[in-house]
Amino acid sequence: MNQYDVTVIGSGPGGYVAAIRCAQLGFKTALIEKYPTLGGTCLNVGCIPSKALLDSTEHYHNAHTTFKEHGIELKDLAVNMNQMMDRKGGVVKANVDGIAYLMKKNKIDVLAGVGSFVDKNHISIAPTGGGAAQQIETKNVIIATGSKPTVLPFIQQDKQRIITSTEALTIREVPKHFIVIGGGVIGLEMASIYARIGAKVSVVEYTDSLIPTMDLALGKELKRILGKIGIQFYLGHKVTGATRAGDVVTVTATTPKGEELKLEGDYCLVAVGRSPYTAGLNLEAAGVQMEERGRIKVDAHLQTNVPGIYAIGDVVRGAMLAHKAEEEGTFVAETIAGQKPHINYLLIPGVVYTWPEVAGVGYTEEQLKQEGKAYKVGSFPFKASGRARASMDTDGFVKVLADKTTDEILGVHMIGPRIADLIAEAVTAMEFRASAEDVARMSHAHPTYAEAMKEACLAATDNRAIHM
Ligand code: FAD
Ligand code: NAD
Repeated sequence: MNQYDVTVIGSGPGGYVAAIRCAQLGFKTALIEKYPTLGGTCLNVGCIPSKALLDSTEHYHNAHTTFKEHGIELKDLAVNMNQMMDRKGGVVKANVDGIAYLMKKNKIDVLAGVGSFVDKNHISIAPTGGGAAQQIETKNVIIATGSKPTVLPFIQQDKQRIITSTEALTIREVPKHFIVIGGGVIGLEMASIYARIGAKVSVVEYTDSLIPTMDLALGKELKRILGKIGIQFYLGHKVTGATRAGDVVTVTATTPKGEELKLEGDYCLVAVGRSPYTAGLNLEAAGVQMEERGRIKVDAHLQTNVPGIYAIGDVVRGAMLAHKAEEEGTFVAETIAGQKPHINYLLIPGVVYTWPEVAGVGYTEEQLKQEGKAYKVGSFPFKASGRARASMDTDGFVKVLADKTTDEILGVHMIGPRIADLIAEAVTAMEFRASAEDVARMSHAHPTYAEAMKEACLAATDNRAIHM
């Protein structure tokens, strides 16, 4: 029987990063994956394919709407869905092949099949295509089995017309009317993809705000901007059903006034969150305890109640984000090696890849109010940015929240061009506990979108923004 120091179950961003860090630290490491390719949700049916389609459709949208003003004239502009989907497939393949290469490079044994506990130190791997299971012995286990789309019990998802995000990434036609249940991250990224290429898109959201877990100013601005590309929003609506008859889907919801809303379309995406995935692990055999909402219970070291068994990523508490899973993968590997790693969960940024992009880190204004913390706000709109005017991306703003007394930055919330990358400056500043004035006094190259961060910090410091 093969023996390992560490066995990782699941090859998503949590699992493969944990495996690499374990190998770097000198552990004999195995990685078990039941899907034919490595990379988990993120690389196969999540972050990477969605961003590939967001990029393609943004190009089309710009060609359609702003190229003429740039002085570029195109004739016979058309969408080729097969080519768009094939390119996306190529992007996914390059990424998942990259992970396979990294496993080889780091001498990690990749074991294909469903991993399940025999006991706390033995794992059986059943090949997904059938055949005899193999068993391995291991000193430590890292569970990184991720999540799957949450289902609404009263909606039958046939995965052809009433679909999850996985199917929404493979539609090879422009939908006539794409109905989305859930105005969160997945809902709005998918709504953007299809609205940009000409589909009528409706989003039905239960709360009275889009992306309701982020600073509320962001959802408000995003609703206004996405409304301009024709997306119809039904906020504060309680979905009561979604049914399919032939190629027609009907979604019903109760409006805030208690009336019935009925929408007919050709696709309905259900995007109401994701649920931790532990099926097939046979956790009982190892005695691993769960907590509420199907998550694996872990302590501050991400160790379960069973010594030597850890869990990371979407399957444990916290934001369901690839970079959170990655940090946890590194954290656990270093913990097993006897190091004292640290994760600052407050400073894990959240990003929505609509256009303009949305990003936030630290406390939201609503959280500061709730905690009764004295704070000040500095804001800078992209319409006052020379770089944004040059690229015709003048929607959005950067909002900085700083401690009223010490000027320490407590939260940064942005909506605007390329701010998925710009949020890294806010994370760096906050990790070093910078004041708004610290950032305001740093030179930012001109003209860049990043100048909006400096200006918002100037505004927070003493209402000293220069360009507004
Ligand atoms: P996963 O990536 O879910 O990987 C778990 C792996 O474990 C899977 O490959 C699964 O097959 C395997 N597995 C499960 N059980 C077993 C078993 N018993 N034996 C063997 N293998 C098993 N996050 C971002 O940060 N940025 C984004 O832009 C982003 N976009 C997204 C877009 C979409 C459409 C979706 C659905 C998600 C997106 N996410 C994004 C979220 C991100 O994908 C997840 O947070 C991330 O993948 C979680 O990583 P993980 O390692 O915990 O699990
Ligand atoms: P989400 O939690 O972001 O949004 C779900 C939305 O659905 C919420 O706004 C919620 O109020 C609404 N909702 C819930 N029940 C509803 C109902 N019955 N009717 C109408 N609306 C309802 O979840 P998601 O968009 O499904 O994404 C799942 C996870 O994947 C998230 O945790 C997210 O972090 C991650 N993800 C991240 C990215 C990114 O980082 N760019 C992209 C996609 C997904």
